[in-house]
Amino acid sequence: MRFFTYILILFLQISVVFGSNENSVHSLDKRVVQSSHPKITFNKVNLETEAKNYLVSSLENLKSIHNDIELISNIRSPYATHLTYLQTYNGIPVYRSQIKINIRKNGEVLSLFDNSYSFTDRNQIPTISSLNSFKSSTNNVAESFISENYSNITEQEIEKIIVFDDQNIPKPAFKIKVYDEISGNYDESIIDIDGEIIYQRDLRMRSASADSLVSGMVFLPDPLTTAGVEYGSPYEDYSDGYVSVLNDEMVSVTFTASFSGGTYSLVSDNIKITDIRAPYISPVTENSPSFNYTRDENGFEDVNAFYHLNTFHHYITDSVDGLGFTNLLNEQVHVDPHGDNGDVSYYYPQTPKKITFGIGGVDDAEDADVLIHEFGHAISDAAAPGGNSGNERSALDEGLCDYLAVSYSRSINAYKWENMFSWDGHNPYFDGRTAATTKTYPSGMKTNDIHASGEIWSSTLMEIWEVLGRKTTDKLLIQAMYSYVANVSFPKAAKLMLQADTLINGGVNIDVLYQKFVARGILSWPNGINSEFKIQNSKFIITNSEQFALGGELIIRSEIPQNIQIGLYDVQGRLIETQTHTNFTNCLISGASLQKGVYF
Ligand SMILES: [Zn+2]
Repeated sequence: MRFFTYILILFLQISVVFGSNENSVHSLDKRVVQSSHPKITFNKVNLETEAKNYLVSSLENLKSIHNDIELISNIRSPYATHLTYLQTYNGIPVYRSQIKINIRKNGEVLSLFDNSYSFTDRNQIPTISSLNSFKSSTNNVAESFISENYSNITEQEIEKIIVFDDQNIPKPAFKIKVYDEISGNYDESIIDIDGEIIYQRDLRMRSASADSLVSGMVFLPDPLTTAGVEYGSPYEDYSDGYVSVLNDEMVSVTFTASFSGGTYSLVSDNIKITDIRAPYISPVTENSPSFNYTRDENGFEDVNAFYHLNTFHHYITDSVDGLGFTNLLNEQVHVDPHGDNGDVSYYYPQTPKKITFGIGGVDDAEDADVLIHEFGHAISDAAAPGGNSGNERSALDEGLCDYLAVSYSRSINAYKWENMFSWDGHNPYFDGRTAATTKTYPSGMKTNDIHASGEIWSSTLMEIWEVLGRKTTDKLLIQAMYSYVANVSFPKAAKLMLQADTLINGGVNIDVLYQKFVARGILSWPNGINSEFKIQNSKFIITNSEQFALGGELIIRSEIPQNIQIGLYDVQGRLIETQTHTNFTNCLISGASLQKGVYF
């Protein structure tokens, strides 16, 4: 009964979306996965086995005899494991029956998606003996299908499967994949045991066009920083005019653009240079793979925006030479480098996400600081969708975007790194901001100026950057950003960075983080830490606290024997453990039995 209800809902949805095209979509492509969130925690040591046992015993479609599942992939994202299984019936894989279970590192199930099929309420189930003979039969039918339909074959693969055809009747079938290097075709065909096609599809992941390596001229990160000068003649905007000293600061870079029908365009999977708002200026395209413009030409801003945003996206998502947030902002952001006549840029949290850069004063898209700041809003929105509301929370977003921009441009060139908007600001048009303010929290916060308040956050993070470096600090911030929600305050955001350090690094950077946040007034030392001051006055010496956070031993010594009680607190101030010692001179506290994290 449930099955029929499900089909009805599906039909209604499809007809609304596709209208008269409904008939052209194969039933296999119309299925919608069932999802649930079972409250269960697995023993993480035997994750695959526990997950399999759970699925087989709890999913309705798998309960009848002859049903089973096989693991087809086990993928780990930074903080979870993602297991994918395929249903089998009498040992034969069931086509498109993927079952996926996403599990947090501690074994807790995050979500479950079920594409399995029910065999029990069907009267046309293939008999087990017919399936057994199919399993042992030769591939002749499939092989003659291939030779009749393909002439140039580079690779071929035949698999025996069970497929549910258009009438939802299970049938033994052959799954055939053929790759032809000459035509570039890569097809999957499902044929029944008589050689008739049940279903066919093109396996290539189609995008608008092919990728192609091109070259172009950009600022790295802006002309004043690389020239080592401040704004002033001859290093001035001159109404976006031709200025040779500015053109001298351009650098040739290579990057990937798209190529289609003989035309190169500034489009990638993640960034599309386009025209969203006035002034209406179409993005440049080229017939050869070079995008070389002087900074007075509109094409320069197109290339500069495209290059920096793709580079930064790669850094955030790439797991080899980047931070490894592989799924973050995995979508195409539309960017208009000439999208406002004023000196103002915007991020629009729409679908697709959009960014427009202003051309008033110095063109915003000529300055990497502006480009990365706006893109930072898109990253923040992707990590915690719709979470940017509330005054302090909005100041936090401005601060983190300034931080990401300064962190990026400082990694390219450190000259006057503290100048936020080095080229777009700090000039007669716009004061710019600083990432090295001495303002403290909460007295330096301005209720009606989220950008000024944000300087407190960006400047604190840059102090942490000085000690931990770019990659570590960026990673802590971005991991913490996933937990943001409306109305998060600076102190709560700081605590989330401490938690992120526990998740990523086992809490080794907690000292540095606390020092910087406490000095800024954003955090105060937790209860437990006060004992450290008493300890110093009482001539206690604590060593190896860094290794303790990683499961090593904390050593506490006293210069004179005395009676003491030692308390171990976690980051929330909860008492984890107490020890009482008489005539104490020294002891070891092992971190091995404690969950890795932050203790005081
Ligand atoms: Zn902003």
